[in-house]
Amino acid sequence: MPELTVSELIPEVDSPEEKLLRRLCSIIEEYLDHKQVSDVVRAYHKGADAHSGQFRKSGEAYICHPLSVAITLADMRMDTRGIIAAILHDIIEDTPVSKEDLAKEFSPEIADLVDGVTKLSKLDHKSHAEAQAENVRKMLLAMANDLRVIIVKLADRLHNMQTLGAMPAKKKRRIAKETQEIYVPLANRLSMNSIRHQLEELCLEALHPLRYRIIDKAVKKSRGNRREIVSTIENAIQNRLNQAGLIFNVAGREKNIPSIYYKMKRQKISFSNVFDVYAFRIYCDHVDDCYRILGCIHNLFNPVPGKFKDYIALPKANGYQSLHTVLIGPFGVPIEVQIRTHEMHRLSESGIAAHWLYKSNDPSGECVQAKANEWLRDLLEIQKTAGDSLEFIDNLKVDLFPQEVFVFTPQGNIIKLPRGASIVDFAYAVHTDIGNACISARMDNKLIPLQTKLENGMTVEVITTDWARPNPLWLNFAITAKARSSIRNYLKNFKQKDAISLGQRLLEKELKIMNINLDDIKDDLIMELLQVIKLHSMDELLEEIGLGNRMPILIAKQLSQDDIHAAVKLEETDSTNSPLVIKGTEGMVITLAKCCRPIPGDHIVGFFNPGKGIVIHHHECRNSTETKKRESSRLDVEWSKEVSGEFSAELRMEVLNQLGTLATIASTISSLESNIENVSIIGQDDKVSTNIFTLTVKDRVHLAKIIRKLKRLFIILKITRIKA
Ligand code: MN
Repeated sequence: MPELTVSELIPEVDSPEEKLLRRLCSIIEEYLDHKQVSDVVRAYHKGADAHSGQFRKSGEAYICHPLSVAITLADMRMDTRGIIAAILHDIIEDTPVSKEDLAKEFSPEIADLVDGVTKLSKLDHKSHAEAQAENVRKMLLAMANDLRVIIVKLADRLHNMQTLGAMPAKKKRRIAKETQEIYVPLANRLSMNSIRHQLEELCLEALHPLRYRIIDKAVKKSRGNRREIVSTIENAIQNRLNQAGLIFNVAGREKNIPSIYYKMKRQKISFSNVFDVYAFRIYCDHVDDCYRILGCIHNLFNPVPGKFKDYIALPKANGYQSLHTVLIGPFGVPIEVQIRTHEMHRLSESGIAAHWLYKSNDPSGECVQAKANEWLRDLLEIQKTAGDSLEFIDNLKVDLFPQEVFVFTPQGNIIKLPRGASIVDFAYAVHTDIGNACISARMDNKLIPLQTKLENGMTVEVITTDWARPNPLWLNFAITAKARSSIRNYLKNFKQKDAISLGQRLLEKELKIMNINLDDIKDDLIMELLQVIKLHSMDELLEEIGLGNRMPILIAKQLSQDDIHAAVKLEETDSTNSPLVIKGTEGMVITLAKCCRPIPGDHIVGFFNPGKGIVIHHHECRNSTETKKRESSRLDVEWSKEVSGEFSAELRMEVLNQLGTLATIASTISSLESNIENVSIIGQDDKVSTNIFTLTVKDRVHLAKIIRKLKRLFIILKITRIKA
């Protein structure tokens, strides 16, 4: 007897939720195993139980909503945990079930996913200004430590948009606007085109119902007129490809309403100009066939010069692959044709969501799949080396913007980089070692400097030497995540130059107290000292001082041994001892402590930290009072009068837990020209939540201004700066 599938075991009851469950199971049975499907069903029962007695505005049982979300993800072949998280996504927020319960009953990973979605949901339905959208998207990404959280959230938003229904017009518009500004760009960035298109369509319908209806009507009306031409072209394609013995599917493709609307608006052209293009998509099984089909099609109709694009050989940054061409059809109508494999199509529809399944199944090295994996591996790699979520987000932003430039290596390999990338980016893209050793480049037999921006089609030969080292200035023009993290990583370990100059400043300062000029010290004396302490050069000694491995005062005393003046002066040291001046731009040997984040205007103290140089603390910082016991490593420092730049400060805020709170805080902060670098929620009950905001400020005065303005908001109960 054949084994029964789970969907067959579900009783045929007419409740909407059972129907949805059956539909979900029949989709996931195509790609998940028996055990995984029954885990999903178990999650359904948990969710249905917990939400029982709750209803959607439509009158349906609440569980229908999470089930619909799960179905969207199942269509994208999401993995089991993602599906389960989708089914349980509102359970922490809306029912007594806790994160710990989920960790116990399912797995800590699933509990984390659900918790992640819950946190994102708290940012929903706030009226934020358009200028804030980027900040909110950053926040969303920063709060989701697993990208599956964003994917579930996008599917959740899609279902909410689909069921806006009889909501008051004003509320509908607000939700649609938020979706348009926040979630459509996110879906695009993650190349989840299927969700993106649906969201765009729903947003347009909610925001411009009249325009939507007019275009919709026009589409339906012209569909009739077009039918004949569409089938003539389709038949011609079918016949030609059949003759060639190719296996394929061809489908007429109608532009969706948002793309018609935005094209009309952007190019100021009429509906018929946009719509009277006949678009077809041809799907096949193998990459080779794509090109064979292209050959047949170009033979059937005349291609329009300059319109052919090969995104198979040169995929877009988000992994999109397809052949695009435009032809002149019968009666002179323009025909757009896209040719791709089924696999490429699936990836372009599901984007990043397709990745998780690959991780567990099907090790065969299909090119598209490898591309998606590679893309994610790159992201994860960057996340690891960057080590800080904010930098990761910046990297993510750079890498996901769909503008790219293609250049050739001397061997003719194509390297793809984001637009605006420089020679340094190119060098690192070829190989980290080449990046680390590059000094300039050659293009068409001309030398070009490293900051030169790449242009499509350039052939670039990087020139390297053994002695070349990455330079901090490269960060001004290196834009790819790989180049930037490599340069930073290298520099972290390469502080020599900075250490030497700091060492010199520190030693000169000590000598000055003794009324000695470093230049006046005799070479013999220096050589003698170097021999005693077993170092080879003055630079090495200065580096040791700069890195905090040797105390400048001891070296100064040793260098002044035979100097009678010094011996006398030594007794009155303190009176002339002036603090080291900090400008905030000293490079890698002076760091501002992360525990107390001192800013200009704060009373500060410095400590030598062997191997690292000098660390600056706020004078009230607990870490600095503990280190104070080691009086010998302490250094008097003060801020320079010309200090400039952006500094981070942390604020702990207890805020009322209500709609719009975070958005109000964010807009207040940005109205005072400060950026939010990070937000973390550290505690929460149903009334009050405690958040830590990391902001950029110029100095104490600036920070005080921000705090004053925030204190005036009634939603903020308590606000303190974190100084330890
Ligand atoms: Mn939901």
